[in-house]
Amino acid sequence: KRVNVIRLLQYAADRFSMMSEQQGIRLTLEVPEQLPEAHVDQDAINQVLDNLLSNAIKYTPAGGSVALRAMVDRQQKKIEIVVMDNGIGIPARDLKRIFERFYRVDKARSRGQGGTGLGLAIARELVQAHGADIEINSKINEGTTVGFWIPVAEEGEA
Ligand code: ATP
Ligand code: MG
Repeated sequence: KRVNVIRLLQYAADRFSMMSEQQGIRLTLEVPEQLPEAHVDQDAINQVLDNLLSNAIKYTPAGGSVALRAMVDRQQKKIEIVVMDNGIGIPARDLKRIFERFYRVDKARSRGQGGTGLGLAIARELVQAHGADIEINSKINEGTTVGFWIPVAEEGEA
């Protein structure tokens, strides 16, 4: 299905505007004026965005910021979407296991907010189901960046 990515990201940012405001976090949406349509399952990408944005907000202290960004790689026919925060970060030793089901860094870190450790595992499965990939970069006490790409819809594609 052809999906308007700018609108998708706007709606995603809207879904989290209340929560981020309540937690004292600045949420910004940084997208180009135009993006080609993507060839994705809209529900799946919404789920990915919800999982990544909820993490960014959950693991960023008040006063911090979360950015949702998108850019296009026309050569490779990809749209890259990034969720970036300047929150608590993830220790290097945990990073390689972070996409495993039920893997959580440390329950004490999450400000008493619960979680099952499924969000990133599900996000990766959904992204990979599109033949795409997701990656995470993080530095403890500095922040976390999660990026994934989705395929641009080809000419004439439904
Ligand atoms: P769930 O998403 O199932 O409610 P969860 O948030 O704990 O629970 P994941 O979303 O899979 O599970 O994340 C796994 C772990 O990775 C988290 O417990 C947290 O320790 C760490 N993590 C994920 N995103 C971030 C982030 N943006 N900043 C810091 N740590 C993060
Ligand atoms: Mg989560």
